Amino acid sequence: MQTRRVFLKTLLGLVAIIIPWSVLPTRFGEAMKTGLGHPSVKLLLPPPLTSKPNNVINEESLSLTAMDDIFALTSSEMQGRKAGSVGEAKAAEYLASQLSMLGLKPMGDQETGFTQAFTIPPVIETRVNGRLTFRPGENRNLRTPSVNLLGGLLGENTAEIILISAHYDHLGVFEGQLYPGANDNASGVGCVLDVMRRILREGKTPKRTIVLAFWSAEEMGFVGSAAFVQASSFPLHQIQAVLNVDTVGNGMIGDFALWSNGENTAVKAIYKAASECGASAVLTPTAGHNSDSVSFIAAGIPALTLMTHDWLDKNHTPEDTTALLKPEQIHLASEIIYRAVQILAF
Ligand SMILES: [Zn+2]
Repeated sequence: MQTRRVFLKTLLGLVAIIIPWSVLPTRFGEAMKTGLGHPSVKLLLPPPLTSKPNNVINEESLSLTAMDDIFALTSSEMQGRKAGSVGEAKAAEYLASQLSMLGLKPMGDQETGFTQAFTIPPVIETRVNGRLTFRPGENRNLRTPSVNLLGGLLGENTAEIILISAHYDHLGVFEGQLYPGANDNASGVGCVLDVMRRILREGKTPKRTIVLAFWSAEEMGFVGSAAFVQASSFPLHQIQAVLNVDTVGNGMIGDFALWSNGENTAVKAIYKAASECGASAVLTPTAGHNSDSVSFIAAGIPALTLMTHDWLDKNHTPEDTTALLKPEQIHLASEIIYRAVQILAF
């Protein structure tokens, strides 16, 4: 009996060690392994990505659509893409593979290609009027690694950049419920990728360089875009305009809104583009809400966020699924951004 108990205890002990190590996401596994010797330095490493830049366009990837991206990003495997989670790492891997297949130039941290690493502070989930959101947690020094992704199409002028961006993170899983964030903001990510696919299919070299950026930890207070502005992988003064896309898949067709700080060059380009499409994009007060354009406006860069007028419908609830989306609306948002990019970069 005694021997059996010792044997069982040893077995349970081994299982207790093996299981956490085998189920730990690679990113944290790596961070823990490398972090043992140099905790403050190595924990800043981004997750290892298998998709490497290749500078060649994969023709098949040019026929993907925004809805393909949205279905991939809202799949149960991505677990609602909470910044710092395994689901976010999988979404980052998906986006790196897209940037790679589009043959774009890596514009992230030099060593890691498309990714720019940063860290996020602890947060606590909280419900406000039935919507899930994050508030600051304790131990603000305990930070978790996260990544933005950046890839560019070089223009004739590489010193001037038009940035098209969308945040790819969302809220994750809370109390057993998945928050897929189809509209917020898989729709924006799909829209941004669609614009670049169309530009590449047309094959014209832009006058200015066009950079795609996918921010993480927007839901935690624009942490990813703020980290980029603080330690950008190329000089900020090169950025002529930022077109940020957030939650563009629902509502009345052609009924869009803009957040910015006034009628800057980015806003004027969107006005013209929207009217060419028979759509409206109205500059609207943020009323306590915001998106990643705010990080660039704070740095004096002309920036805006495009969203649907009805963006708040089902926002930050488990009902923000692909069933909420209207492909026609997403297509129109892509058309508006595409036309604005024609004005700003060609
Ligand atoms: Zn959100």
